[in-house]
Amino acid sequence: MNNLREIGVSLIFVLCIGQAQASVISNNTSYNKVIKTQTALPRETSMPKYLESINQQCMDYIQGNISWLAAPASNKTWATVNLRKLCAGATDSYVPGKCFKYVLHGQKKWDKQKKHKLDWRDGLALCAGARQFSRIEKCFKTKISIGKSVRESALGCNQKYFDKKDAIVRANTGSVSQNFCSYPSAQALMRSCPSQAQIQKIRSDFNISFDNDLVNNNVLTSWNCTEGGDESSIMLTMYNTYRLAQCIPFDRDFRWASGHDNLYDWLKSVNIRNVNYFWADSDTDYSHANGTRRVIALRGNNLGSEIYRSVINPRSGVGAIHALILLVHEAAHISQNKSHNCDSTKDSSLFYMGAWGVQYYLNKMLAYSTGDYFSEYEKRNFASEAQRVRDIRICDTNNN
Ligand SMILES: [Zn+2]
Repeated sequence: MNNLREIGVSLIFVLCIGQAQASVISNNTSYNKVIKTQTALPRETSMPKYLESINQQCMDYIQGNISWLAAPASNKTWATVNLRKLCAGATDSYVPGKCFKYVLHGQKKWDKQKKHKLDWRDGLALCAGARQFSRIEKCFKTKISIGKSVRESALGCNQKYFDKKDAIVRANTGSVSQNFCSYPSAQALMRSCPSQAQIQKIRSDFNISFDNDLVNNNVLTSWNCTEGGDESSIMLTMYNTYRLAQCIPFDRDFRWASGHDNLYDWLKSVNIRNVNYFWADSDTDYSHANGTRRVIALRGNNLGSEIYRSVINPRSGVGAIHALILLVHEAAHISQNKSHNCDSTKDSSLFYMGAWGVQYYLNKMLAYSTGDYFSEYEKRNFASEAQRVRDIRICDTNNN
């Protein structure tokens, strides 16, 4: 369980990293090397296989299972034309049905009053092609609470509304957070591959380099990726780290950085001068950061492992999300320029908001503030990881 140790026990803030930097190959060199190996990347336009049958699965899930009549909820036989409308554009088999059920049959959840009239048309207006359920749900509930009618709320909070809103934000700010994130879940994102545009964006936003020793030890080799495939490599893990950062939809600002609710944008704002992946010769060559020089060094030895093609590999309990958590931990050292101030490997308190505090809150938010982007298994894992960090990495557990 080397990787677990890498994530948990061995994150140490080292002030001097001269040695790790010594054998960095220039960013340009490694970048050219990488681009040459990417001919096997699929075109972005090809529809991932797992999406092909989603439309049918979406309809199968609703037909015979969810009543289109609000009350009594007794008619589960749908007209095909309405079913088609509800599922068109879905990227997750269950989201449109789940959304419809929420509006028509989960009336307590959005605080339905007597004055609210609704029927299946309202469910259709809100839920047709729904992809981002947590966003739709939050918007609908808010509109109802400020006195809008069901129909107004439905039309003001559907997927079309959010897609339009995102397009405007993109046009005005050039923000990347939505561009590459059409996947309904972290698992779906991990089954897909980075597009060439995304790769170029990541490499231009961050100065990423690789030690020659990774090549010498056969860790950094040519790589490829197919949609739904199981290839793994240090390069794919690295790109997926940043892709997860771009796409995890937090529903509130970070506790450690108000005004930020997107990890990629926050990482950019930290102004990291270099993220270098190195080959560790010994177990005690830990990943580390230098807050003064604003550089991060990440252990690359195991990052090519197949476990990193999953969000969390159930057999090892480790996956790509941990590469991101580690990156955030090290970036936190730089953003706050704080070292571990208790026994040299721990933080004094959560209030201190050092890298362990950030890691604690990140895990909490992954578990409780990301809607249904992560699976229940993944969320349980984040919740217990948060507790573990608090238990063993924070000296004063009474001090919040
Ligand atoms: Zn640390």
